[in-house]
Amino acid sequence: MTLTERDLKAIWHPYTQMQTALPPIPIVKGDGALLIDENGKEYIDAVSSWWVNIHGHANKYIAQKVAEQLLQLEHVIFAGFTHKPAIELAERLLAILPDNQAKAFYSDNGSTAVEVAIKMCLQYWHNLGIKRTKVLAFKNAYHGDTFGAMAVSGRSAFTAAFDNLLFEVEFIDLPTAENMKQLKSRISYLRSELACFIFEPLVQGSAGMIMYDAALLNELMAHCRAEHILTIADEVFTGFGRTGKRFACNHVQEQPDIMCFSKGLTGGTMAFGLTTCTQQIYDAFLSDDKRKTLFHGHSYTANPVACAASLASLDLFLAPDTDANIQRIVNAHQAFAGRIQDHPKIKTIRQTGTILAMEWETGEDTSYFSALRDRLYSYFLDAGIILRPLGNVIYILPPYCITDAQLDYIYRKIEQALEEVGKSA
Ligand SMILES: *Cc1c(COP(=O)(O)O)cnc(C)c1O
Repeated sequence: MTLTERDLKAIWHPYTQMQTALPPIPIVKGDGALLIDENGKEYIDAVSSWWVNIHGHANKYIAQKVAEQLLQLEHVIFAGFTHKPAIELAERLLAILPDNQAKAFYSDNGSTAVEVAIKMCLQYWHNLGIKRTKVLAFKNAYHGDTFGAMAVSGRSAFTAAFDNLLFEVEFIDLPTAENMKQLKSRISYLRSELACFIFEPLVQGSAGMIMYDAALLNELMAHCRAEHILTIADEVFTGFGRTGKRFACNHVQEQPDIMCFSKGLTGGTMAFGLTTCTQQIYDAFLSDDKRKTLFHGHSYTANPVACAASLASLDLFLAPDTDANIQRIVNAHQAFAGRIQDHPKIKTIRQTGTILAMEWETGEDTSYFSALRDRLYSYFLDAGIILRPLGNVIYILPPYCITDAQLDYIYRKIEQALEEVGKSA
């Protein structure tokens, strides 16, 4: 049996309708921005393997540090015990985050980082004896797939089977110059009920790389602060250089009370989650009364190997080369966007940092489940490029080490697709 046949016999894939999906492609090796399949065919990973990879695949420096850590200490219970990689990572990250961030809480992935953030906020008010129990979020938000994270995400076909079990959330539109006044008065009206406001800063990834203005976000955050509503910046996707700055929150002056990280945290090496918070939130859990404890943890909380991968990734992230690479991608995206923005098949094109998104004009079905999406996906796979459209939105967000030649090849293939895809079914 081939690997694909064995896979289909034994495995159920994420976000995949197993009855109609194309057979999965067995990847045997990674090298920089490239993934290589069992037949030796190379694919440029233009989506950073679901947005996690920032320094390229099979990075030797990270691999070395992970190997050393595995031989030193692979894991230890994190209640009652600690270890240097966890301490060093917390210290080094807190030093580069907005300066109100004071404490680091580790978990397993982006969804758990969000769960921890929500629980911190709800219990903050509970511990203070103040009844603020509702969460404020943006329409079409995506914060993860566990129940709490799903609850604060937009309602859609993805959540339909569970909608009646998801706790109630106040959803507001993304801010615009026109609706700002209305959003603020709605927030003020609900203030006594609202525990916190969770948002994806600057870019709503899963919604289709929807982008919004930093100044408007800043105004909303300031308004929440004035109304004593805690703010949670979910930087699971936007963290670690994606938006052109280290963190999306570096684009605003206001500082969030809580931040969530995962995806790029380990450089895309392995699953890991981190929630940071202010001293004020931390202090609300300090008490002689044990019931005020944050009762949350995972078996693998602060896994030393994941900490070592994150420390190695951070070394690379803070190196001048990485800054230069990010800027190089930002400039290349800009030039490409300028070249194709007037193409009749391009409905809109938008960019934030290293993220470039193009909405395809179709005239037909524009849902996530559209046929055009599948045609584009296959077209690029054939060309040796992994681009995974969200509905009719094609986006490029490559590992920062992608070469100019690889970027140019992706751009040329997109231009070619604009001429060739969509004419026939
Ligand atoms: C991917 C993502 C999550 C969920 O992270 P997982 O590791 O997939 O659970 C949460 N928030 C945002 C903004 C994301 O993009």
